[in-house]
Amino acid sequence: MLNKILLTFLILGSAHAADIDSAPPSIGKSVRGKNAVFVDFKKATYNITINKASKKAYAKSVIEFTSFDTGTPIFDLVSSIVKAKIDGVEVDIQAIKAPTWKTSFKTTKSVISPGNHTLEIEHNLSNGVKFDYSGVSVGFFMSDLGDRNFLEKYLPTNLEYDHYKMNIVLNFTNTTSRLVQANGTVKSLGKNSWEIDYPAYFTTSSVYLHSFPDLGIRKLEWVHTASDGRKIPATVYTKSSRVRPDNFKRNTIKYLKELDRDYGPFPHNKIIVYGVGPMNGGMEHCGATITSERALGHELTHSYFARSVMPKNGNSGWVDEAIASWRDSRYKRLSSTTFAGSNMGKHSPYRRTTDKKAYKQGRDFLAHLDYLLRNKKGLRYYLNEFHQRFQHSSVSTKDFADFLKFQSGENFDKLFEKYIWGGTSPILGLEDFSNPNHPKLSEAQLKALL
Ligand SMILES: [Zn+2]
Repeated sequence: MLNKILLTFLILGSAHAADIDSAPPSIGKSVRGKNAVFVDFKKATYNITINKASKKAYAKSVIEFTSFDTGTPIFDLVSSIVKAKIDGVEVDIQAIKAPTWKTSFKTTKSVISPGNHTLEIEHNLSNGVKFDYSGVSVGFFMSDLGDRNFLEKYLPTNLEYDHYKMNIVLNFTNTTSRLVQANGTVKSLGKNSWEIDYPAYFTTSSVYLHSFPDLGIRKLEWVHTASDGRKIPATVYTKSSRVRPDNFKRNTIKYLKELDRDYGPFPHNKIIVYGVGPMNGGMEHCGATITSERALGHELTHSYFARSVMPKNGNSGWVDEAIASWRDSRYKRLSSTTFAGSNMGKHSPYRRTTDKKAYKQGRDFLAHLDYLLRNKKGLRYYLNEFHQRFQHSSVSTKDFADFLKFQSGENFDKLFEKYIWGGTSPILGLEDFSNPNHPKLSEAQLKALL
């Protein structure tokens, strides 16, 4: 461990060096007797070409990363890979299963040494691309409820613990007038090409990208002034005739005011709201959301908790879901808890999805902490401080528990042990509660939203 920390310091010498310390353990000798190791991405450049005539999309990705161990580097991409190179030399790629959770990743067959490397990947992009009578649409929408539903569904990426700079270039072969909505800086490179540059604090769950023919789109744009004086461009747009953009805009302004008062100035450089029908619920990205009107307040809350203070992994995902759900309950206060215990923060370190118990049991746990803190300004006060302290970085459940303890002077360790890190009996392990704010959409439903 000392060597790893020293190497981290020598190679990187920056605050982001800590990313690798939040990675799951290496997967020991399961790939032809070699260790598969998690790595630290520094930068990824994705070049995507979409051909309307052949109805094919092809992606070429270049990833600069650092490995701290000898082994086969782990990354993820759901699609199969056409060609891969490490440091310019062609390599074979294979799937690798996580040892204690039903999930898998990708890794090379050949071993690399510690240090800086470049991974190049080429693959056919089928998820998130739609060809129809109106032309071509591209949409990278995320979900934390289904495994491998972040950027890895579309492009090669790392796990949620890793923050790195991303740059996507989109090339189309047709000349239809097109809109590009993204939570990065969008630049036109000519008639059929766009480049999107994303901030360095982004992770695999952060990116929002939606590009589609400019047909029948209704859009409202304005400038939001945050309480720190920053002018933030805001956009509400919809493709659905059943959605009222003016209602979305009015409610977005109302919720932004509420969140600014409770948790500070909006923490991103853009606000993008893609309004969809009531049955679709919503999903959060950094400063962007695809959402129904009903879920709008919940999703904008996630731009603070989930996509500004971010979860390090599936075991930390309950924190932000519980906070957003507690807000939905109008910050109710409970003098006692409503459940016997849970394991919502104690799954395998390889789990990437949020435990659905967060919505109800997680929410009630926070409502109880709020009761216990009632003579010390209440929980919302500490959540504000929590956001100021950890914005644009990732936290574990332990980071959250420790922060509350040190800031408030109250020790909640025993409560966390019982209600968050408890046993795994069938009742305690049940995840039967689904939330209308985040319904699980089928692939057909998702494609319709492109
Ligand atoms: Zn949520």
